Amino acid sequence: MKEKLQELKTRLAEIDDLQCANAVLGWDQSTYLPAGGAPARGRQMSTLARLAQEKFIDPVIGHLLDELQPYAESLPYDSDEASLVRVTARDYERALKVPPAFLGQFYEHSAITYQAWTEARPANDFAKVRPLLEKTLDLSRQMADFFPGYQHIADPLIDFADFGMRAETVSALFAELRQALVPIVQAITSQPLADDACLRRNYPEAQQLAFSQDVLQRIGYDFQRGRLDKTHHPFTTRFSVNDVRITTRYDENYLNDCLFSVIHEGGHALYELGVHQDLENTPLASGTSAGVHESQSRLWENLVGRSRAFWEFFYPRLQATFPAQLQDTPLDEFYRAINRVQRSLVRVDADEVTYNLHVMLRFDFELALLEGSLAVKDLPEAWHERFRADFGISAPDDRDGVLQDVHWYGGVIGGAFQGYTLGNILSAAFFEQALKAHPQIPDEMRQGKFDTLLGWLITNIYAPGRKFTAPELIERVTGGPIRIEPYIRYLKNKYGELYTL
Ligand code: ZN
Repeated sequence: MKEKLQELKTRLAEIDDLQCANAVLGWDQSTYLPAGGAPARGRQMSTLARLAQEKFIDPVIGHLLDELQPYAESLPYDSDEASLVRVTARDYERALKVPPAFLGQFYEHSAITYQAWTEARPANDFAKVRPLLEKTLDLSRQMADFFPGYQHIADPLIDFADFGMRAETVSALFAELRQALVPIVQAITSQPLADDACLRRNYPEAQQLAFSQDVLQRIGYDFQRGRLDKTHHPFTTRFSVNDVRITTRYDENYLNDCLFSVIHEGGHALYELGVHQDLENTPLASGTSAGVHESQSRLWENLVGRSRAFWEFFYPRLQATFPAQLQDTPLDEFYRAINRVQRSLVRVDADEVTYNLHVMLRFDFELALLEGSLAVKDLPEAWHERFRADFGISAPDDRDGVLQDVHWYGGVIGGAFQGYTLGNILSAAFFEQALKAHPQIPDEMRQGKFDTLLGWLITNIYAPGRKFTAPELIERVTGGPIRIEPYIRYLKNKYGELYTL
């Protein structure tokens, strides 16, 4: 059995090498690639993706997994070997169900749609992408149908990103969250808007970069095992457990943009860098689900990076970096500014309280589109209507309505959004457990120390990589299923100090 296991590992390592090499090409494409290189790069990336896919769906892998399954089941559930066989078998079964020809067709269609979207959004021209989006919806339904036996047609698509979650469970959780959230949003937005003028002064890029690097280093991001580069849409990418890179963008007239996207991506990166070294070069060496991944970017961005304790340490340093801009702004004013809550049009700019309402709107539309109760042609109007009902404001056009997010224009319709809100809910649930284990964490943050928190996160959440599904991990860490209470407690606590709730 040891030999068979070794053979499986060798094959999976080669596939991981191909995928990571492809990720390097993708990182380069989004950072340094000159425009002339784009067509060749697209071709190179799809060749590598195809080779990796072919190697993975090879029947030899299926035979090895069959032979290894009884052996794996005889081992402890959380052992590296048992987990490798179990998780790979799950990935393998899923990969076999989608015909390669369909996948090729889907990628090609996505590339065309994405290109059309980059032109349609600035032109506010939904009609341009409408037929493409109709085809995306059709392909998304076909994708779901490769996994028959579902309760809701969105279930298989939700499963891709958040394995173990279903439309029904997510809908119920979101309904509960909505009920608790709407009164908080109403209470806050009926009070005077916080003044964020201090964030909108001129902040030169070079100093923003220096300050961001300092923050990253202090929270535990290791520049020997990563880099920070510039891009249009910030992201994190992993080439190895020892090479996880992040990207950011700069707005010289708005401090938040770079600062908080660096901490956000830094959180994603700390997760990937915290996976145990023994899992390197295997399918287990990554985060376990979209929701859990987002819980870590949100934990570092909001529960740490937007906390008063964090800024008690960092604000004097920020003032020293930007004396002309901030010397007359007291910490309290800055803290209120970075935690300003307002009803706004664009999801990615939304504060942590209203953000989830944006996600719920998209999640509900995904279900309605897939069910067929909403047609693509009616989507822009439905969007405006729902937005007015949920936020009490109107988007002037589709640019900041149905055209604002890339997700549907570069992937499937279904499963694309729930992870963001699951992440918010989980960030508070996990942080509460960390505080229970180490009540000194906020005091340490006041001194610019984060190793106790990071150590707890590595041990409990990062090190296992993909060994446990999200529901299993949540159960192990919090002692039960996902619940909204810790998140609501966190919001009421924090915003109860800033506003009258
Ligand atoms: Zn994220």
